[in-house]
Amino acid sequence: MSSKMLLEETLIKRSQQKKRTSPLNYKERLFVLSRNRLTYYEGKAQKKFRRGSIELSRVRCVEIVKNGGRIIPCQNKYPFQVVYDTNTLYVFAPSHDSRSTWVQSLKEEIKDNPEVLTKFHPQFWQEGAWLCCRQAEKQAPGCEEYNLFGDISRKPLPPIPGQERKDGRQPPRPPTPVGGDDNEDEDDEDEDEEDEEEVVVALYDFPATEPHDLSLVKEGEYVILEKSDVNWYRARNQFGEEGYIPSNYVTVKESGNLVQFVWFSKQVNRNKAEELLRKEDKEGAFMVRDSSTEGTFTVSLLTKSTAGEGRAVIKHYHIKETQDSPPQFYLAEKHLFSSIPELIEYHKHNAAGLVARLRYPVGRQDRSAPSTAGFSYEKWEIDPGELTFMKELGSGQFGLVRLGKWRAQHKVAIKAIREGAMLEEDFIEEAKVMMRLSHPKLVQLYGVCSQQTPIYIVSEFMEQGCLLNVLRQRQGSFSLASLLSICLDVSEGMEHLEANGFLHRDLAARNCLVNDALVVKVSDFGMARYVLDNQYTSSSGAKFPVKWSPPEVFNFCRYSSRSDVWSFGVLMWEVFTEGRVPFERHQNHEVVTLVTRGHRLYRPKMATPTIYDIMQLCWRQSAEERPLFSQLYTMISDALEADVPRAT
Ligand code: ADP
Repeated sequence: MSSKMLLEETLIKRSQQKKRTSPLNYKERLFVLSRNRLTYYEGKAQKKFRRGSIELSRVRCVEIVKNGGRIIPCQNKYPFQVVYDTNTLYVFAPSHDSRSTWVQSLKEEIKDNPEVLTKFHPQFWQEGAWLCCRQAEKQAPGCEEYNLFGDISRKPLPPIPGQERKDGRQPPRPPTPVGGDDNEDEDDEDEDEEDEEEVVVALYDFPATEPHDLSLVKEGEYVILEKSDVNWYRARNQFGEEGYIPSNYVTVKESGNLVQFVWFSKQVNRNKAEELLRKEDKEGAFMVRDSSTEGTFTVSLLTKSTAGEGRAVIKHYHIKETQDSPPQFYLAEKHLFSSIPELIEYHKHNAAGLVARLRYPVGRQDRSAPSTAGFSYEKWEIDPGELTFMKELGSGQFGLVRLGKWRAQHKVAIKAIREGAMLEEDFIEEAKVMMRLSHPKLVQLYGVCSQQTPIYIVSEFMEQGCLLNVLRQRQGSFSLASLLSICLDVSEGMEHLEANGFLHRDLAARNCLVNDALVVKVSDFGMARYVLDNQYTSSSGAKFPVKWSPPEVFNFCRYSSRSDVWSFGVLMWEVFTEGRVPFERHQNHEVVTLVTRGHRLYRPKMATPTIYDIMQLCWRQSAEERPLFSQLYTMISDALEADVPRAT
């Protein structure tokens, strides 16, 4: 049988995760659309092996996938979905135009299908839940109207930053429409390529603390066996030993994955890059980092040779791509490479147009390993006998906080809960959920000692203490970029809470902590629910954070991610006033009246109009009109990028 080919292009396919435990992977495949099938092959057009095929009559929905500003873990940044029977195939196109062509052509082919969906899921199914509606059932009905005839990629979407950015890169070539007949043999099988082994590389050492864990040795390779817990994967080492490993200590071993290289720093912006390079202060110190345009990369390079007197100059070079498919990469014209690692390798030995050659990689090896979600898989109870106490760090609503060590080596903060200060049982139950919230911009909860009084809460130690004090103590020393960078850290942590449907309820500078690397992390999230103190919990109480609360909270206790966004606006204001008290001369009840009438905090001197605009978006009367944290993150990183003058 022969059938007419309509489209052909190399795209990336995500594994379908049919089993909840099978790891996700991303593979390059040659996709071919014909009149009645969508087929994908491994290899090139000349020599290809069929890997799977979907009969178009079984397709119920084709649409782009919105990604809510999350990172797309493969080279192609334009996802779309093909829903057939009860499965969803995710495909990643290299450009907006390519995706549009595929989605429109597929929609055209399925328009007469009998079982087209009326509602679909606009975001991914991932780690056992739909990211759009948080339903945890894969077959749960869609949560958004599906329009087979519309093109949602052309309508302005509700702004989701980081997906289609205004500074989007040049679209590479759209797929080639193909004419003529194709003599492929076709059968009705839907082959699939699940269950292939995923190999990861360790980014840091991890000494196993419990018998069911597996130690990691930096640079070592491990096979992933199970991913049912997002924070702890089950893995096997080269000796056949199996156990749990922290998922944030490894990265997939794949040629396109830059995270495995020591010179790569994910999510480091221009300002941070300059800070890190200056700290090293070595000729030819460099790093490769994400550019402000999603999916593209920048080399930041320090040299002392151009300015004279040993003064360091930092240049930023955008890694450019050719329009070919697959693209070639270059920093300077004439030197093309088929991958970024090859390009970096070349420029280690040849400046070839750069101010210096890439001599000294600055990256993850210079920073300490991140926190793990607890000390071990499924371990939230900590044996108090394994804690030793050092100095006092401070005290708060719940009691005294002390610095201590777990098993004599791991520094931790230990909060001893004062009797009668907390709804302890409820908290202990919730602690299991909170421990799973693991993110570089959230203060990690390691566990609890719940079998004693007072109970202890053990968390990540943050050397510099609370953000409010840091702001006040270092008044006058902050640059605009460093203030923005504080806000960016907090928005990133909050974005993670928002994405997990978790509310903070008391976001303020006093509830953020700072570590020695001057990273700011959000702390005490969700803890307000366990406070036993009317002065704090009642909105008319003296300790209620009225000055950080939107009207719907001080009037009706209506909490949401958008009420956290309001508080974030006030936190930005605290940051840009270097720690002033909001509505300083007003009592709480006066603030209620003022804010209800539309009065807002003034623009701090250090805040540019753009920055003050961001605060004001957070303080919109109507909660729905306030931005999401994912949008705030993008706005602040854009402001930061605009502030630091470009060296290239
Ligand atoms: P509470 O939740 O009881 O109100 P806080 O979390 O505000 O207590 O802690 C009180 C003080 O203790 C903070 O202001 C800070 O100085 C110190 N502190 C609390 N947690 C940590 C930590 N993880 N690392 C370092 N210092 C901390």
